[in-house]
Amino acid sequence: MTTTNWGTATTRYIHAEHEHVARTYDPLPVVVATAEDVWVTDVEGRRYLDLLSAYSALNFGHRHPELVKAAVDQLGRLTLTSRAFHNDQLGAFAAALAELCGKDLVLPMNTGAEAVETGIKASRAWAHRVKGVPDKAARIIVASGNFHGRTTTIVGFSDDPATREGFGPFTPGFVTVPYQDAAAIEAAIDEHTAAILIEPIQGEGGVIIPPAGYLRKVRELCTKHNVLLIADEIQSGLGRAGMTFACDREGVVPDLYLLGKALGGGIVPVSAVVGNRDVLGVFRPGEHGSTFGGNPLAAAVGLRVVELLRTGEFQERATTLGHHLKGLLDELLGHGLTDVRVAGLWAGVDVDPAFGTGREVAERMLARGVLVKDTHGQTLRIAPPLTIQADDLDWAVEQLRLALS
Ligand SMILES: *Cc1c(COP(=O)(O)O)cnc(C)c1O
Repeated sequence: MTTTNWGTATTRYIHAEHEHVARTYDPLPVVVATAEDVWVTDVEGRRYLDLLSAYSALNFGHRHPELVKAAVDQLGRLTLTSRAFHNDQLGAFAAALAELCGKDLVLPMNTGAEAVETGIKASRAWAHRVKGVPDKAARIIVASGNFHGRTTTIVGFSDDPATREGFGPFTPGFVTVPYQDAAAIEAAIDEHTAAILIEPIQGEGGVIIPPAGYLRKVRELCTKHNVLLIADEIQSGLGRAGMTFACDREGVVPDLYLLGKALGGGIVPVSAVVGNRDVLGVFRPGEHGSTFGGNPLAAAVGLRVVELLRTGEFQERATTLGHHLKGLLDELLGHGLTDVRVAGLWAGVDVDPAFGTGREVAERMLARGVLVKDTHGQTLRIAPPLTIQADDLDWAVEQLRLALS
């Protein structure tokens, strides 16, 4: 879509951004200026309902008052020490997050990709130092269709050409198996296997929900073969899928949780790897780190996020509202949608190509005051803040219905 249909403030801004911002994204033509809870306002004063939530980083809505308060209070005290010194916020955050996960140790980082990289390093060190795999021989099994971030190592084991081409050579030591196929995992495991790195639900893949029993089977295989289960819950975790973790839907406990996105409350990047001492204890001082990881501002916000999740209120809302959303979306099956997948307050819907591409439908939704984003051509991902009200969902799905007619 050209931007000429839009107001001059929008057009002017987008042209200016193109002058100096490298184009690694292709944003929808809306320039957001302010936001509160589930609503954002653009530079021309138009309001939109946010059904993307920054890929689940805004699970608690924009500028949740308690999260903003935690950040502002901390801004007035201390923002950064580096881990060269202790700060008085990290301990409480780590204790609360470890308790939420039922684990001993937290390794704080900033972005999701860093948490994934940390999980990779932890499982390799564990394989070499604890399991007895010969040095540099550890292998990690990953799933087709995965999305774990954008570092060179991570895109090296993606099967999406757009994320890989031109960026090699890549890090060896990864084996890809089809997603949702436990037998393929068992066949791929050998004495050098350190870990299975998996998204319990594939978010970027289009909210792909494996069949019941799959994750449990993967857990059993990991236990049987002394292989670590690393659950990338960066997008699926922290309430989105209707429970604290998507793994909880199957009663599965991974060896390592990778967390990010919503952990920063939509305010600062906060990520973490959470596990027990027998795994995360493999790191020795000096072997891994991050200048900003565990900074006091991040820890203060992250602690408040954990406190919000501890109430169970958001998980419950995700479940209840998710049922409601599924009912609304199912009515569009055969009327512009060819598939609807819902887990908690998280939906992937496939648009019938006769009604346009995912991008075209997202642009029609934008014109109707709803922000959604397409993924992989025909799919739209719907992930509103967990604070949304049922009648806002009704209105949003009505806009989808109109965008498809
Ligand atoms: C977003 C995401 C990441 C990467 O997080 P960044 O903060 O963008 O680096 C990793 N894994 C999953 C499942 C994600 O959704």
